[in-house]
Amino acid sequence: MNQQNNPRRNRRPNSQNSIPRNGFDSFRLDKMIRRSIDAAKFDQPRPIQAETIPAALEGRDVMGLAQTGTGKTAAFALPILHHVLTTRVRHEAPRALILAPTRELATQIAEEFRLLGKYTRAQVVTIFGGVSQFHQVNALKRRPEIIVGCPGRVLDLIQQHILGLDEVETLVLDEADHMFDMGFLPDIRRIMAELPADRQNLLFSATMPKEVRRLADEILHRPHVAELADSAPAATIDHELVLVSERRKRELLEHVLNGDSWHSAIVFTRTKHRAKRLAQQLSKLGHRAVGLQGNLSQGQRDRAMKGFRTRKFDILVATDIVARGIDVSNVSHVINYDVPNTPEAYTHRIGRTGRSECEGQACTFVTGADYSWLKATERMIGGPIQRREVPGFEADPEVSATPANRSRRPRRGGRSAGGSPSRADSPNRNHTAAHPQRRRRRTR
Ligand code: ADP
Ligand code: MG
Repeated sequence: MNQQNNPRRNRRPNSQNSIPRNGFDSFRLDKMIRRSIDAAKFDQPRPIQAETIPAALEGRDVMGLAQTGTGKTAAFALPILHHVLTTRVRHEAPRALILAPTRELATQIAEEFRLLGKYTRAQVVTIFGGVSQFHQVNALKRRPEIIVGCPGRVLDLIQQHILGLDEVETLVLDEADHMFDMGFLPDIRRIMAELPADRQNLLFSATMPKEVRRLADEILHRPHVAELADSAPAATIDHELVLVSERRKRELLEHVLNGDSWHSAIVFTRTKHRAKRLAQQLSKLGHRAVGLQGNLSQGQRDRAMKGFRTRKFDILVATDIVARGIDVSNVSHVINYDVPNTPEAYTHRIGRTGRSECEGQACTFVTGADYSWLKATERMIGGPIQRREVPGFEADPEVSATPANRSRRPRRGGRSAGGSPSRADSPNRNHTAAHPQRRRRRTR
């Protein structure tokens, strides 16, 4: 692109660092976008939106750090839509590129663009692997302004000279931490080499491991930084753990699912194989469960997600790769059947519930082998995770001897069979000390 004509340079100043207080009006967005926002029933900007949209509208680089479910998508979608609509230029190639780690996320981001651009004519196309490129290539022929894609297929189409990115004015790296976890950084670097140097860069992430910080330092030019992330889980999430031996996890899961306090749950497993098998086992037991893991075809993945969204299934058994960042409103429970690989992933997973201020619960099954993970996670979130005792599981000999148990639950007298201490006795009862606003609802 001819840099003199780059509309980025001509953006009107939209705010003088003002954080809007009167809903979306103060952003002075294009009126068709404003109408779409109303139709989407977004009353007030979320904090991350209030903090980042004005700077993004000015054309500045932005780094937005906030927990999952806080509305980061609209924080970049609205400024991009506004810019595209208010600076209509003849374009042969996309004007905005959003990179996201998984197909499900790319799809979800594109849906948010369509929601917020409902009354506009802006076109969004998703590009991801695992499906034939045929429809994606055809869609690109309509010259969409906005591309949402996963790095692998985007790079593939660039290399086939099907996708040109030399007119991109805004690049978004969404879920940057997860893209790093998935090893996408080299692909991202190759893609960035195809983009005009003079562009706006927006980076969003829930956590900020040092590799992501390094990437941010490398690509963001004098960014406006909005950091709302304390790495602790959202206050609307009630989270607890149960100490259990590996061999009794299945039984414990059934016990939890037989309770009546949940209506829609995501169960996380460590491996694809475990996700598949567990979903089958739960279905056999009469639960409406479906597996979602990377070995499924795209069609199967879509059907699983859609079935879960539309409540055909009320249990989604998934691995991290497919479930991160996914927004399904009203998931009441997250069950970590296996602990995640990292403390950060814990926040992500339990962020699937309690999204957008509806209350959710998360329960993690912890075995003796998970001790170091547990310690690191509790350090990260700034306090112990509440231990919950499940009748019949409290004296599991394999875990009660683990360091995880010993360090948090010094044995008190009288814990023989049938005499487990009441909750009020638990030394871990005040897990909320670090976050006193979190009140537990304990009705089970
Ligand atoms: P994140 O990317 O931070 O994990 P999302 O962008 O997926 O979060 O947003 C979570 C949910 O909140 C989505 O369903 C989105 O449509 C909704 N949402 C975003 N902003 C608002 C708002 N201002 N008002 C109401 N709902 C919103
Ligand atoms: Mg997101």
